[in-house]
Amino acid sequence: MSRKIDVPSLIDGVKGGDRAALARAITLVESRKPAHRPLARELLRELTPLSGNSIRLGLSGVPGAGKSTFIDALGCDLIEQGHRVAVLAVDPTSSVSGGSVLGDRTRMGRLAESEAAFIRPSPTGLQLGGVARATREGMVLVEAAGYDIVIVETVGVGQSEVAVQGMVDTYLILMLARSGDQLQGIKKGILELAQVIAVNKADGDNAGEARVTARELSIAMKLVSSDTERRVPVLTCSALKEMGLEEVWQAVLDHRKYLEQKYGLANYRAAQQVGWMWSLTEAAVLDTLHETHDLRELARDMEAQVRSGSLNALDASAELLRQFAAKVPEQDWAHGR
Ligand code: GDP
Repeated sequence: MSRKIDVPSLIDGVKGGDRAALARAITLVESRKPAHRPLARELLRELTPLSGNSIRLGLSGVPGAGKSTFIDALGCDLIEQGHRVAVLAVDPTSSVSGGSVLGDRTRMGRLAESEAAFIRPSPTGLQLGGVARATREGMVLVEAAGYDIVIVETVGVGQSEVAVQGMVDTYLILMLARSGDQLQGIKKGILELAQVIAVNKADGDNAGEARVTARELSIAMKLVSSDTERRVPVLTCSALKEMGLEEVWQAVLDHRKYLEQKYGLANYRAAQQVGWMWSLTEAAVLDTLHETHDLRELARDMEAQVRSGSLNALDASAELLRQFAAKVPEQDWAHGR
């Protein structure tokens, strides 16, 4: 990124749907540099009013479940219907593995070639909280640039799914026909978040097994689903043979309609924003505590005293908060790192 960031021209570029400007704008919101945060906030303040006009879909599945094949096929279908599709990836492990597996253009070869698609891999070098923030902000930017379908992709093995479900309208999990372990590495808690499930690779010899798995999952979902008023549809599809994709998409649209009727989409999203405000605030307070030398020392001391019984937890917590308020000027808050 150039040293001097011209926010107004980035804003104009994004508004005009300029892909290079959009990519630079996303790089800015991903930046960990404290000096970039106010610029990112300025950008987001201007562009947020233009956002919100998309269908927001979260998609999880373990590696190999067929996510990229699915997004490639579905994305191209949607583009043929006149939509513009953005794909954002959330993969906190990419910081560890050094590169992002998700959202990679080469994994979605056909879609990547389309002018109406925008594919962005997971930001690297950020903690989960930072990845979630960058993705949520990236969503605002792609919406402002005119993408009317946003797919947020994640691997389904950790905490990021909760964050993703909190930023999308509908959360879809791609499963495989059972292969010993019913849950196949998808964390059980993550299934609870699912609003639509599709058992992928339901083709060839695998088709029957996929249908059996879908039936079993459908029964299991009655027990684990967090929404008791709605049955989570469990479908089968083949991303490779492009079978059943329309039905999966229809289930996504049906779920959206359900949200609209039950809460109103705007209210649902507003509640997500409130949740988001709290996660940002909690994360910033904790990060600031851990990253500020004196507070970290104080916290260790408080921990030791609480452990030995010389101080109670309530007083220790009050002291930490008092010192936090006294010691940390605003520019040092770990906001959005
Ligand atoms: P991801 O890691 O979840 O993104 O999975 P990929 O989309 O890369 O797919 C992993 C492998 O499964 C690839 O070899 C795909 O060709 C294959 N695959 C994906 N979808 C299907 C499907 O519907 N049927 C079959 N038979 N293979 C599939």
